[in-house]
Amino acid sequence: PASETPPFRFENSYARLPANFYGRVQPTPVTEPWLIKFNRPLAEELGLDVRAIECDGAAIFSGNLIPEGAEPLAMAYAGHQFGTFVPQLGDGRAILLGEVTDTSGRRRDIQLKGAGQTPYSRRGDGRAALGPVLREYVVSEAMHALGVPTTRALAATVTGQPVYREQILPGAIFTRVAASHIRVGTFQLFAARGDMDSVRMLADYTIDRHYPELKDDERAYLALFKAIAARQASLIARWLHVGFIHGVMNTDNMTISGETIDYGPCAFMDGYDSKTVFSSIDQFGRYAYANQPAIGQWNLARLAETMVTLFDPVADTAVNLANDALGEYGTIFQKHWLDGMRRKIGLITDEDEDLDLVQSLLTLMQKGKADFTLTFRRLAASAENVGADMELASLFEEPEATSPWLERWRRRLTREPQMEIERAASMRAVNPAFIPRNHRVEQAINAATEDADFSLFEALVDVTSRPYEDQPGRSAYAAPPKPGEEVLQTFCGT
Ligand code: AMP
Ligand code: MG
Ligand code: MG
Repeated sequence: PASETPPFRFENSYARLPANFYGRVQPTPVTEPWLIKFNRPLAEELGLDVRAIECDGAAIFSGNLIPEGAEPLAMAYAGHQFGTFVPQLGDGRAILLGEVTDTSGRRRDIQLKGAGQTPYSRRGDGRAALGPVLREYVVSEAMHALGVPTTRALAATVTGQPVYREQILPGAIFTRVAASHIRVGTFQLFAARGDMDSVRMLADYTIDRHYPELKDDERAYLALFKAIAARQASLIARWLHVGFIHGVMNTDNMTISGETIDYGPCAFMDGYDSKTVFSSIDQFGRYAYANQPAIGQWNLARLAETMVTLFDPVADTAVNLANDALGEYGTIFQKHWLDGMRRKIGLITDEDEDLDLVQSLLTLMQKGKADFTLTFRRLAASAENVGADMELASLFEEPEATSPWLERWRRRLTREPQMEIERAASMRAVNPAFIPRNHRVEQAINAATEDADFSLFEALVDVTSRPYEDQPGRSAYAAPPKPGEEVLQTFCGT
């Protein structure tokens, strides 16, 4: 009935910005949409009319039915891809339906990814294959459950139409929810054209939407830059704490909200190696695990370049302010990283030797090829029971090599105020048992793609939604890949 409120209460602010910020475009209908998965709890959090949406889910989340109030558009942006500047990228296969205000009062974007060509598709088909859609669903929801800021998965549909890559694959559409889709590359688009009016307008919009507390700051644009840098420092520290490798940290894949975005060739590492790279196209390890903090800073330097003239009317002063802020990023990152690593090994007080204690564990893990996730999870068991050390040590190629470190760690723990049981519980609350292991993701994708069997996908989404709980009966999901199961490469596989 017409009197009912529409299922999405869209209030679109980006569509009110000038026309050079985006291109209006409608999703291209698909032949046989079928809803694979709908994230009901997220829909409720977004304040959507869940029942109305469930009736039309396949049509809505495939772009066949445009909900009332939507103003579909593709956002314009630029970006550095593997260090090379591309002046015009933009949403080549993503279409923003609109914005809603969630039940906590936060504005959220709802976007269809793979819904057809846009003004920015260049030679692309605007479509997505089923595999990458499932990967993004599993991994982004797992990241959320792990407590890492991220875009979310609202739905996944198959289109009934093939997409043509190296192989012919089933087509699919991913519905993404984000605090916004503004990226470092959005600022770069305008700055590269010398359009500082648009840069300023985007900065004002960003402050309103994401950093309203900075509005009255004397140096609001510098404060904005520092706030973005601080959120990135915290975000990338969280990635390192859970063994996450983004894989394609181009400046167009770095949000200014501080959410992880663009789950392409991303993966979690199994055995610890700081140089781990999964992406097939990252030949030089630019986006390797341990390089991520430095790349974050590199990307932020590109962002600073877009706004430096807004920092101060005197050019030298502005540049000095930018450099100081970039330096602060390093300090803030290091603090977040070390604080988190302290918690992972069960420390709640600070001592100067802690950095060395953490680093020597990582060195040991690297030499012993120890599983990153299980090492920390089992360390929690060792925190309450010396008898558990054997199981921990068995993760290392030379189990005995762990003894001196464990002794040193226990000496350090004698200066901690927590009781053992309490310490083990705090450690389990930050050291997950379950991550979306790469071989499990691949198995789920293969079963879905080859046999239309979504049971592995469902199981993986379910088990990784409670990563810090011991889930008896699910221990196989906690295990690293067996020989022959390892997946060493991931593909952007759009
Ligand atoms: P990404 O590496 O995922 O950040 O994508 C880089 C750029 O390529 C973005 O502008 C995407 O919108 C665009 N793109 C990726 N896949 C496609 C596709 N199948 N069709 C059109 N554009 C695409
Ligand atoms: Mg991208
Ligand atoms: Mg991508």
